[in-house]
Amino acid sequence: MREAIDAEHISGEGPFAHRCADLLRRELGVGAAVVTSSCTAALEMTALLLEANPGDEVILPAYTFVSTANAFVLRGLRPVFADVREDTLNIDETRLAELVNERTRAIVVVHYSGVGCEMDRISELARSRGVELIEDNAHGLFGSYRDRPLGSFGRWATLSFHETKNITCGEGGALLLDREDDLRRAEILRDKGTNRQALFRGEVDKYTWVDLGSSYSLSDLLAAYLYAQLEQRESITRKRRAIWETYDAAFRGELEACGVRLPYVPPHCVQPYHMYWMRLPDGATRLRFIEAMKRRGIHCVTHYQPLNLSAMGRRLGADRPCPVTEAAADTLVRLPFYNELARADQERVIEETLSFFAV
Ligand SMILES: *Cc1c(COP(=O)(O)O)cnc(C)c1O
Repeated sequence: MREAIDAEHISGEGPFAHRCADLLRRELGVGAAVVTSSCTAALEMTALLLEANPGDEVILPAYTFVSTANAFVLRGLRPVFADVREDTLNIDETRLAELVNERTRAIVVVHYSGVGCEMDRISELARSRGVELIEDNAHGLFGSYRDRPLGSFGRWATLSFHETKNITCGEGGALLLDREDDLRRAEILRDKGTNRQALFRGEVDKYTWVDLGSSYSLSDLLAAYLYAQLEQRESITRKRRAIWETYDAAFRGELEACGVRLPYVPPHCVQPYHMYWMRLPDGATRLRFIEAMKRRGIHCVTHYQPLNLSAMGRRLGADRPCPVTEAAADTLVRLPFYNELARADQERVIEETLSFFAV
């Protein structure tokens, strides 16, 4: 960050933003990465790249963060909420085909907790029905599906570097893409709808307004912070893996015998260890658990509320129930999980959790 200040380039598109983009492009094997001010911004860029017409539809999981839907609704698309699988809480690939119709423009998948969706089947469906595939990979950076990096399947994929994610700069994101024409247009959308990059490449002698756009760049101060985090990606993943495996070794079997469901990672998926979740037998037990842990100074949190039942979702005409999403929203709890979680603290979380279930 000192280097960015001394170089007198702290706005967007600075040297550190380019270093981050190069690293992501190389590591993920994609055509290009565009660093943005958030994952939300990158999702909004995908919705602009889609060039949809009002009334077109986009299919996305009901169990996700608001931005996955909002980015498309801002462009006049209608969200169609798909339910998720019981085991991974990823979009249910077996029920997707029935949601596709002639108005469908895109399917957005979210690799929940960094565990890959069933990309073979979903990619094939998107291809055969002529709809775009988009990955909201906010949780899954450096995860893989059948040895292929998450974020490299869709025509577009987005990443988040929000404080709550594995790799962070406070607020930040990225858009991943493969096609040269998408990259050219993405740069214009990011640069307030101007052809500023064409000026820097010497293709024009002044830049002007050429398309829709907004301000989606990441300050180079934050890109510097982000680059340092990316450099530490292996040690960050190693720490998180140890934490995840310690929870799992303590709970697998023991808690399952008490009706608690634990994360499922299919054998062909490698996760970057974004979170550790448990699904308790019912909503009342979850409430008691969170309260009991809170009394012992341990902060446990729920996760997404079903988008199909939200005020905005209903206003947009969501009328199909998503029973798995709704049950997960009522019963899922996340345990403390962060890079610097101390061994002794984690042991206490484990002890209190086991004692709540009287194990
Ligand atoms: C965190 C998150 C986002 C939003 O990320 P920002 O960088 O805060 O905009 C979007 N989708 C999912 C699935 C997320 O977890």
